[in-house]
Order: sequence, then structure tokens, then C-alpha cells
Amino acid sequence: MIPVQRNWSGSVQFSPAIVAHPTDESAISRLIADASARRSGIRVVGSRHSFTPLIATEDTLVSLDRWSGLIETDPTRNTATVRSGTTIRSLGPLLRAQGMGMENLGDIDVQSLAGAISTGTHGTGATLGNLSTQVEGLTLITADGSRLECSAESDPDLFDAARLSLGLLGVITRVKLRLRPAYRLHLVQRRERLDDCLARLDSAGAMNRYFEFYTFPGSDWVLSKSMNPTADPVRDHPIRSFLNDVVLENAGLNLLSELCRWFPNTSLPISRLAVRLASEYEKIQWSHRCFASPRFVKFNEMEYFIPRSSMADCIREIQHCIRRENHHVHFPIECRMVRADDLWLSPAYQRDSAVIAVHMYKGMEYRRYFEAMESIFRNHQGRPHWGKMHSLRADDFTALYPKWNAFLSLRDRLDPAGVFLNDYLRPLFGTGSG
Ligand SMILES: Cc1cc2nc3c(=O)[nH]c(=O)nc-3n(C[C@H](O)[C@H](O)[C@H](O)COP(=O)(O)OP(=O)(O)OC[C@H]3O[C@@H](n4cnc5c(N)ncnc54)[C@H](O)[C@@H]3O)c2cc1C
Repeated sequence: MIPVQRNWSGSVQFSPAIVAHPTDESAISRLIADASARRSGIRVVGSRHSFTPLIATEDTLVSLDRWSGLIETDPTRNTATVRSGTTIRSLGPLLRAQGMGMENLGDIDVQSLAGAISTGTHGTGATLGNLSTQVEGLTLITADGSRLECSAESDPDLFDAARLSLGLLGVITRVKLRLRPAYRLHLVQRRERLDDCLARLDSAGAMNRYFEFYTFPGSDWVLSKSMNPTADPVRDHPIRSFLNDVVLENAGLNLLSELCRWFPNTSLPISRLAVRLASEYEKIQWSHRCFASPRFVKFNEMEYFIPRSSMADCIREIQHCIRRENHHVHFPIECRMVRADDLWLSPAYQRDSAVIAVHMYKGMEYRRYFEAMESIFRNHQGRPHWGKMHSLRADDFTALYPKWNAFLSLRDRLDPAGVFLNDYLRPLFGTGSG
């Protein structure tokens, strides 16, 4: 009997008939061809860190957790071809050993590489695109079980669609990444006034390769974080990092979160307290050990990409709304920047973006807060992160994405029977046949 499957937050639960862990590409190909022949569904799963029901299926669930590691590297050109089930955390040291590192990462590193790029996972940096833009080529096994090599040279349209495709065009088995020579980062975390931070957004984005900040609900203070490459040696105290990353950001947050869950009225005062307790610190560390932090405290999350020029206004509106409507929320709001790209389903499609994420502690009511935030994001022509909660429908996406119909046609051509669709994706991406 196959146990019930869940995503990280537990918001998605489902019972597939088959869970397969193929160890090579022929087995992946056979699984897909079999499902197609039976006209049954198939979804591929990474590390289950998406909040939307992308991976849910009652048919076949394919996990590539036994398909991981480097295939080949070219340190002279700074590229590596990687098995798609490799987690970002395990990839870091493998690349470092070859003298290379990824250009940018999100704030966790437990995702599978294919899972991360398939939803357009991003970090921060006004001059840097999401992780999918770091892809130079990929191998896709399509609905009939055949293998398709995608690159800008072989088929630019397919490449721009497939690099961020939610597992809808096929199963990605190999990813060729554009990398940088291995580098260290100088991380500086500071507390500053919200107004000062909003006033320096342009310069902070231009002067720091990576810049982000957290604005705390109901507070006039933010915690800003900048990271820049440095030639200086590693300067990182393991005990201080443990105290900050595990004790303060997880155990401390968990304690405060439980208080808010029991006494929701305390949420805004606790948010104001949290920003005061947060530590200011600096460190120098290899890049792959700098981007991500452990996340043990569970939450639900919504994140939208809005035009970069609207960032300050949108954040002021959010803070105003939280106070005016007295939302019971203490989780900080994460504010990042992502450069425009040309990927058909990218929320940063042809638009330099500010990316704003709101969270609610697991077990606390999130709907009223998320609805209020979503209406602010949508007033700024926001496009949601594919892996995070939203309420948009097909019509909304058609209006927001110039290449939406082109993607639907391509999906229909590659998977006419719709084997890669599920109950969540069919109303969004299904056409007559699929
Ligand atoms: C605590 C937390 C922190 C996060 N931080 C960030 C962040 O900083 N930045 C950000 O942008 N996002 C962030 N996310 C969201 C997360 O990065 C994305 O949801 C990502 O897709 C998760 O990767 P995964 O391996 O868990 O993929 P899953 O959630 O398992 O799958 C995601 C999608 O990828 C598809 N997929 C997986 N493998 C393949 C494959 N081999 N071929 C084709 N399709 C495939 C799946 O079918 C699905 O559609 C965070 C999420 C959590 C829970």
C-alpha cells in the first residue's frame, strides 16, 4: 500500500497508484511510454517544496531522487551537465570541487535542480535572472517516451518554453548549466528604517550583486541583506552561524509563531519584537554556503512578481493594509529583485521585477491575509510564482503572459493526450484534446 504523499508544507496531499524511482533514462522513458499507452496520468516530483498542487496525481508519480550527480563538466567554459534529480545542496560541493559555482540561488537549497528550474525558482539580484536563465541546454523525455535535446541553437522557441515548464512538456533528465568560477561572498545583514531602505532601492540594487530585505508587518524597521563577491578568505564562525540560522531564525521563530497561533492578537507586536531580536552580522563564505538557510518552521506562502518600478509603492500599500485591516501576521515579508528574461512562462517575462513574498505560520488562518495581499499585487499587474499559492485562472494568465497561447499550442503538440496534466493543471493548460 502506497502511503499518502504530501508536499513540504502539507497543503497538498494525494494518493498515487504507482510511485516510481527510475535510475536511468531508459527506465524514465519506459514509464512515460507505458503511461501514455494506458492513457493514464504521470507527474514528476522533485523535493516537494511547491505549495501549489503541481505534483498531485492519482496515477503515476515519478521521483528522480535516484538520478543524481554530475555527468560532465567543462571548467574552461564554466559549464556542467547535471542529472536532473540532483539537489541544489549536493550540487554546490560537487561544482566547488571543479572550481565552479552557480550564479545565484534561492533562500533554500533542498530543491531538485529540475524542480527548481521548472517553476522559475529565483534568488535576488537586479542584474540576475531566475535559475532557469542559467540553463544552457536540457534533455526532455516527451509523452511518447522519445528524447528531445533543447538548446538556443537547436530550437529557440522550445528552449524558451521548456526551461520553465512545470513538468508539462515532458520529464527533464539532464540540465546543462552556465556557471561562474568558484567565488566567495561577503554577506552583510543590517537593520534599517523602512523609509531609508525604500529610498535607496535603486542604488542598493545597482551597487550590490545580491540585495534583498525583509519588511516586518506593522514595523517601521527592515532587515536588509547584501552579498558581494570578495577575494578575502572565509570568515564564518560556525557557532555564531548556528545561533543565528538555527536557534534564532528557527527555534526562536518557532516559539514566537506558537505564541501567535495561540494568541493571534499578539502577531503585530511580536513582529515588531522579532525585527529587534534579529541579529546584525557579517560573514565571508563560499557562494553555495551563503545563499540558503535551513527552514524548519513550516508556513504557507504567496509570492508575486510586480514591475520593479512599483516596489516601494507596493510595500507601503502592504504595510498600510496590514495595519488598517489588522491582519494577524508576524512572519516577515521577503522582498527581492529579479532581472527580466524571455522565458515564455516566466513571471519576469520581459519585465525587470520586484518579487514580494508573504507567509503565514502553518496552522494559522492565511486566506484573509493572502486575499488582501493578492489584490494589492494584482493592482500592480503581478504575476504569481508558479510554486506558491495564488488564485489565478486561465483567463488571468492569458492576459498576463504574451506567450501563453504559444505555450498551450506547444504543450498540445508534445502531449496531445495530456498525460502530464493533472486536476490542477488541466483547467489552466488543457486544450480541446489534452
Ligand atoms: C521553505 C521554502 C523556501 C523556498 N524558497 C524559495 C526561493 O527562495 N525562491 C524561489 O523562487 N522559490 C522558493 N521556494 C519554492 C521552490 O523553490 C519551488 O517550489 C521549487 O519548484 C521546488 O523544487 P522541488 O524540487 O521541491 O520541486 P517540486 O515542488 O517537487 O516540483 C515542482 C515542479 O517541478 C516539476 N518537476 C520536478 N522534476 C522535474 C523533472 N525532472 N522534469 C520536469 N519537471 C519536473 C514538477 O512536476 C512540478 O511541476 C521555496 C519553497 C519552500 C517550501
